Amino acid sequence: MQTTFTPQQLADPDTRASEAILRKCVHCGLCTATCPTYVELGDELDSPRGRIYLIKNMLEAGRAATEREVRHIDRCLSCLACMTACPSGVNYMHLVDHARHWIERTYRRPWRERALRAVLAQVLPYPTRLRAALRLAAPWRSLARRLTRDEPGMRAHALVAAIPPRIPAASDVDRPQVLPALGPRRKRVALLTGCVQPVIAPQIHEATIRLLRRRGCEVVIAEGAGCCGALTHHLGRHDAALAAARANVEAWTRADGEGALDAIVIDTSGCGTTVRNYGHLLRDDPLYAERAASISARTCDISELLATLALDADAPVTATAAPHTSPQSTAFPVITYHAACSLQHGQGVRDTPQRLLRAAGFTVREPQESHLCCGSAGTYHLLQPAISRRLAERKLQAIARTSPEAIATGNIGCMTQLAGGTNVPVVHTVELLDWASGGPMPPALQAARR
Ligand code: SF4
Ligand code: SF4
Repeated sequence: MQTTFTPQQLADPDTRASEAILRKCVHCGLCTATCPTYVELGDELDSPRGRIYLIKNMLEAGRAATEREVRHIDRCLSCLACMTACPSGVNYMHLVDHARHWIERTYRRPWRERALRAVLAQVLPYPTRLRAALRLAAPWRSLARRLTRDEPGMRAHALVAAIPPRIPAASDVDRPQVLPALGPRRKRVALLTGCVQPVIAPQIHEATIRLLRRRGCEVVIAEGAGCCGALTHHLGRHDAALAAARANVEAWTRADGEGALDAIVIDTSGCGTTVRNYGHLLRDDPLYAERAASISARTCDISELLATLALDADAPVTATAAPHTSPQSTAFPVITYHAACSLQHGQGVRDTPQRLLRAAGFTVREPQESHLCCGSAGTYHLLQPAISRRLAERKLQAIARTSPEAIATGNIGCMTQLAGGTNVPVVHTVELLDWASGGPMPPALQAARR
């Protein structure tokens, strides 16, 4: 794609990086058929190619974003299916991140939109605030049935429906500590505890930690590490995202100094995509660039690390594990695996979780259109509830055709999105792997069998 940025514009590193990305696009349109918003809405401006043109025009003109540009860029899920499809290597992720930052700086949204985005940015990344907010909001949950699911009540419905029926107590494993390997230590790894997941589903980190320790990993929960920054980054709040990235780099650097970390392990794939991008995010910060690149290079999804550790090398079940009820000793659920976009497109991890589940003894099915997003996408389901709901229904219909007894996925956002529209239990991949190797039955399966 030809561009006409001026030398002054190209003096800005972000514009220079975006220009290089734009020049790679050959307008072939191969990405359009894989884009969930184009598939649902059929408008070229809601396709990757259309958005690339909008971003190019906006950045080249160097002017404030228009309402039309913001509307179509806001509808992008950042699912990155377009990057998987693109034969030219267009880094759409970095381009749309730059566009969102530009919009945040140049466009004044209506006050309701600004207020909602400010609340999301101030609450979601902080587990203590989020837990308190959910407890305060719990009485409003019953309103979900009475709120209209049509515009304009759709956003209110999405917000109220996002309040979980039960807010669990904080788990002991989420406080800063070093959890020793069971048996000889094979690796020392840091686990990102993050923000939303430990508040609404603390059993996921518990399962991850049991799995890692049994497989000979010392697990570090680093003091000072927190939200990865994805939520604020996708809201266009670049500075808040950078602050989160720097805090995590500092925390893991300190942990590294106490004993080299072999990996930064992440069991929320949306966060994994972001931490793998720290090297890019902090590339112009002389104090952090090198350390951030080192962290990104060592970051992996939990499924990738587990695949490198022998599945049959389990140590005996620990005292902290609940009584062993492995899949083989109970009715055996047929699993449909939902591939989170952040794992398959953002991190390029496509078949490792399914292979691990099959090796652990599960029957695993996969739905058609597995490349399409379920519509969760961080805060997208709250900000764009109409499109999000259409995508969730489409995904759940595809999953239902596989007749699953349980749905497994590797991202808390997908779990809550899917669980909101089906009675089939939805679990994290690690909960199943932990159960199959000596841990407790996942709570969602226990509830379904009562
Ligand atoms: S990130 Fe997803 S929604 Fe956005 S343009 Fe690419 S395919 Fe479409
Ligand atoms: S597939 Fe790649 S090169 Fe083709 S239009 Fe899409 S982004 Fe551009």
